[in-house]
Amino acid sequence: MGVANDSDSDFEEITNINDKMNHVQAVTVVETTLDENSKCVNNQIKSNITKRNVFKDSNNNVQQITKESLNVDSSKQTSTNDEDDQPMEYTLLGFIKFKSPIKWLNTVSIILIHLIFIFGFFTYPLYGKILTTLWGFVVGGICGFGVTGGAHRFWCHRSYKAKLPLRIILMLCYCTAGQNTLYDWVRDHRVHHKYSETDADPHNSNRGFFFAHVGWLMLQKHPEVIKKGRAIDMSDVLADPVIQFHQKYFIPLKILCCFILPTIVPVYFWGESWYMAFMSQAVLRYLFSLNFTWLVNSAAHMWGYKPYDRRINPVENVAVAVVAMGEGWHNYHHVFPWDYKAAELGDYKLNITTFWIDLFAKIGWAYDLKQPSEDLVRKTVQKYGDGCHSVWGHGQSENIHAPVEAIPAPGEENLGY
Ligand SMILES: [Zn+2]
Ligand SMILES: [Zn+2]
Repeated sequence: MGVANDSDSDFEEITNINDKMNHVQAVTVVETTLDENSKCVNNQIKSNITKRNVFKDSNNNVQQITKESLNVDSSKQTSTNDEDDQPMEYTLLGFIKFKSPIKWLNTVSIILIHLIFIFGFFTYPLYGKILTTLWGFVVGGICGFGVTGGAHRFWCHRSYKAKLPLRIILMLCYCTAGQNTLYDWVRDHRVHHKYSETDADPHNSNRGFFFAHVGWLMLQKHPEVIKKGRAIDMSDVLADPVIQFHQKYFIPLKILCCFILPTIVPVYFWGESWYMAFMSQAVLRYLFSLNFTWLVNSAAHMWGYKPYDRRINPVENVAVAVVAMGEGWHNYHHVFPWDYKAAELGDYKLNITTFWIDLFAKIGWAYDLKQPSEDLVRKTVQKYGDGCHSVWGHGQSENIHAPVEAIPAPGEENLGY
């Protein structure tokens, strides 16, 4: 509880600081933190902002959460990394070749936790305490909703609008998944959509299943990923106080929501042993959840049908749709990334995230849900689809080599992701 109380007061403080920052001239990074000539900012505020609202993203770029930074061209943000100069090929033991150097800490951690996962999976008594198993599914659903409904459909693609209570719920659900910061997640995914299957794609599926699934987390990013990532406009994300709070308390929130709370509940409410509670929640549920998310980048870019655009790698994959709560309709999603359903049809069985968003829409916490007209979908299917669409199949493309671009939302500029 102490953490929650501290967090509330700090959250208000961040908001206050940012309100005061309305008077500060444009700045983006720590080296140019404040305009020295500004008469509206005292030294105390200046030091608070410098200490509290600056962070490094996973690309090692310095980012600052200020309203002023939102007005600055993100492509001009400075960077402290020098990865642009990396050579293009690395070898391990003289014969395994990589395009980028290995991140050893990530690699060892990922291998180790998967070994524990395999041990836990084959020794787990599924019916030992059925409530513990069911609890794993409940927590899995919570973190799945945070990733799909929050990080993906809301913060990354802005496919619907959400009021503050829902944004807080989405952020907490996302923390339960134990993934990277929301800032990094959104930036990487926007780059993925804009530069799919190129060197600038963080999990370029042309580099094979393993790389697209998990290998990309074990290697340094390709210089193109970092370069293009810097140019992505993240001002909308930085402006959200919920994201600012998440960024500030990322580690404690992740440990609390992903590991501590899910483990404590079975022990205190139905007398589960600490070992089984930890193994079922912090290892099995966590690893299943991570791998289900990764399948969207790997399997859903490789195996399945392309009823909406046969020129691109993303596919419709039912299995991924089931385990990733509706994110397996990936051919459709890459063509209409701004559709809040991330699929043509809102079949809740294979798209549970859509069910939850619709539910929140009924109480007004989710609104402005975007989706294309039936006519637009039909024309797209007939022009670019592979012919397997259940209603409008057998479309013939006359323009198969045309550059692939996501279709812009009606009345809006093409976001490019
Ligand atoms: Zn994709
Ligand atoms: Zn997406």
